[in-house]
Amino acid sequence: MSGVGKGVTVSSIGKILSARGFKLNLMKIDPYLNVDAGTMNPIEHGEVFVLDSGLECDQDMGNYERFLGASVPPENYMTSGMVYKYVIDKERALGYDGKCVDPVPYISEEILRRIKRSTDRSQADISVIEIGGTAGEYQNTIFIEAARILKLRSPDDVIFVLVSYLPIPNKVGEMKTKPTQYAVRTLNSYGVHPEVIIARSERPLDLKRKEKLAFASNVPPANIISAPDVENIYEIPLNFEKDGLSDTLLRLLKLRPRRHDLKDWRALVARMHAVKDKEPLRIGLVGKYFRTGDFVLSDVYLSVIESLKHAAAALARPLVIEWLNALDYEENEDQIKTLSAYHGLLVPGGFGTRGIEGKIKVIKFARETGVPFLGLCYGMQLAVIEYARQVLGLTEAHTTEINPETKYPVIDLMPEQKKNLKNNNYGATMRLGAYPAKLLNGTIARAAYGAAQISERHRHRYEVNPAYLAKLEENGMIFSGRSPDGRLMEIMEMSPAAHPFFLGTQFHPEFKSRPLAPHPLFLAFLRAATERAKLCRIV
Ligand code: GLN
Repeated sequence: MSGVGKGVTVSSIGKILSARGFKLNLMKIDPYLNVDAGTMNPIEHGEVFVLDSGLECDQDMGNYERFLGASVPPENYMTSGMVYKYVIDKERALGYDGKCVDPVPYISEEILRRIKRSTDRSQADISVIEIGGTAGEYQNTIFIEAARILKLRSPDDVIFVLVSYLPIPNKVGEMKTKPTQYAVRTLNSYGVHPEVIIARSERPLDLKRKEKLAFASNVPPANIISAPDVENIYEIPLNFEKDGLSDTLLRLLKLRPRRHDLKDWRALVARMHAVKDKEPLRIGLVGKYFRTGDFVLSDVYLSVIESLKHAAAALARPLVIEWLNALDYEENEDQIKTLSAYHGLLVPGGFGTRGIEGKIKVIKFARETGVPFLGLCYGMQLAVIEYARQVLGLTEAHTTEINPETKYPVIDLMPEQKKNLKNNNYGATMRLGAYPAKLLNGTIARAAYGAAQISERHRHRYEVNPAYLAKLEENGMIFSGRSPDGRLMEIMEMSPAAHPFFLGTQFHPEFKSRPLAPHPLFLAFLRAATERAKLCRIV
């Protein structure tokens, strides 16, 4: 089932097995026909995560990176669209010598070829492959078929783990194992026999339910792992180990357990718990993708939220993140005044018109009142627009993404991008993935990174228009990070004399923050928020 926590489960399995001294490789399979996640609305599918290579993929890949503390290569992501496109293109190029190209075996073999390519490249001891979707649905059947063949060919090297949800219906009050029993039977009918069940539920699984499930699904009780809801996802590896999951997996894989070292992780989780009594930092996250029907989504900004958590844990401060709906700040001046309650305001990335005037109002408030501000991608572009409008007096300044006819296009397309849009060529054509940037000495960014050259991940089409650089700089805006050729503005900031912390990045620092290695800019932002909190207390 989607949203049940398969991604975090795979990440946590990765963490506990690497803590046993093995080299891990984590792969994700998404059954949809999109070739990558780049064209998908985040409301539909959560955050689009970007790898160093520039591949736009599922947010689970972000969890893999955060839990393993390593970058994941693009070979570790696969969609039905990617696989089918490859096979169909190959067929069109006579790549199958006139054969009839059926899904089985051509699609299943292509899936297996991709799995092998990823595992070969990684040189890992163990690969964990996450198959998205739900057992029994049409979409992922071919991937499960490929998995069956994999086990058939290497019976001693492959094990199946089922992640399943056990509901506790409100009125009944009892945890139900039946849906999981049926999921197991469905997999059995595909020729796949799970050897481990991760039992996701609101509460821990009791012995009675373990035994019931074991009896119905042919899985010994010791291989059924209780995975109750947790407040903090970083606790999950530790919870798994309470049920001895790494021992179970290594036993089934016939691998001799090595050392056991989750020390750094335990310390991290303990630190996150210990700070509870201190005064929290209140951060306002200004977005537009929060609501779907009656439900509030936070997945869309997952990496931003995690990055804030990593930095807060490092500073030993509790954190309260509030979702501020950009649309609420467009007209309502009283609403804007409430922003002074925050110790920091963050405007993350985004696309399109909706909510941007509200975001610009929030940025104006932050700039004028000294509330620490961090703008990410669109957030930085909007900060440049706000500055051009208010400080440079170019009241109609805009991005050509919204107003192609604007008199002052302070944010504009680079020439190479104009061609893409003219040809309706939207998929994977943004400026994507890791690019280097040079930092200016004596700036906030340079001090935060402690390095003169950095590499960060991008996902945008528009840039600060070089025609307005001189004017922005004359008026106090500092471009502290630039592409090595000096053409592209990567970081914008105000001098500490003018504002305690006002900084924006054209790239997405949130894709590189890790729980054990928080991102320097998020750390700097929260340090400034800490100062703000002190100030608020005095007032
Ligand atoms: N919409 C902007 C662009 O395409 C910003 C993108 C983003 O925030 N990721 O340049």
